[in-house]
Amino acid sequence: MTSGEGPLRIGVLAVQGDFEAHRRMLEALGARVSEVRAPEQLEVLDGLVVPGGESTTIGMGMERDGLDSAVRTHAEAGRPILGCCAGMIVCDRSHLGLADYDCRRNAFGRQLQSFEQDLRVVGLGDEPLRAVFIRAPWVEEHGADVEVLAEVEGHPVAVRDGGVLAVAFHPELTDDSRLHALFMAMCTTSTRTSSDTARTSSDTARTSSDTSRTSSAARPGVRGGDAGDVGTLDDGR
Ligand code: GLN
Repeated sequence: MTSGEGPLRIGVLAVQGDFEAHRRMLEALGARVSEVRAPEQLEVLDGLVVPGGESTTIGMGMERDGLDSAVRTHAEAGRPILGCCAGMIVCDRSHLGLADYDCRRNAFGRQLQSFEQDLRVVGLGDEPLRAVFIRAPWVEEHGADVEVLAEVEGHPVAVRDGGVLAVAFHPELTDDSRLHALFMAMCTTSTRTSSDTARTSSDTARTSSDTSRTSSAARPGVRGGDAGDVGTLDDGR
């Protein structure tokens, strides 16, 4: 179990798209990075990046390989997800439903297929981030609890909803790693919180009936419960 020891374990979904640049950036920030192609790989992760690419292809590949439900389990366990461009679309209500927003695909239109812009992003300080947009979506509609971190032309292009951080651009394509650092900070916080929760729930499991143990075992994404319940997730750490 992760309890703040050792590097964060971040997976980059490697169904399709530009996962390699994310890997380099996350490793430079000190994460232990794996390319995720199978559902069981998600069980040991502190966070997951869904990269850019083509959202329909990524969605179909995830469904084919059983990654859609594995990613939902990951999110339900409170473990963060960073969605970039197509990854932002994949997380929306109409796709995996991991966050309370909907995207408009290719929202910036034909003339503006690709562009770069200096963007102030809430949480990254005063220094703007150079944001690379490639056939980017924007957030067309979102719920009240979604925090808008940046906008272009009045349209949200960076949002946060609980453990989901989603951006319409490609933060992995510049030398500025602040967005990935923000994501890793979310992973550290959630790891700490879930190990506290795990401690509490494992106490509860021990002092109460088998029912609580069953419910903890029934949610494989949740770190906690008795060691036997989540032994495969603990990975000795
Ligand atoms: N236009 C792509 C889509 O709709 C996203 C492009 C990208 O990820 N750079 O899926």
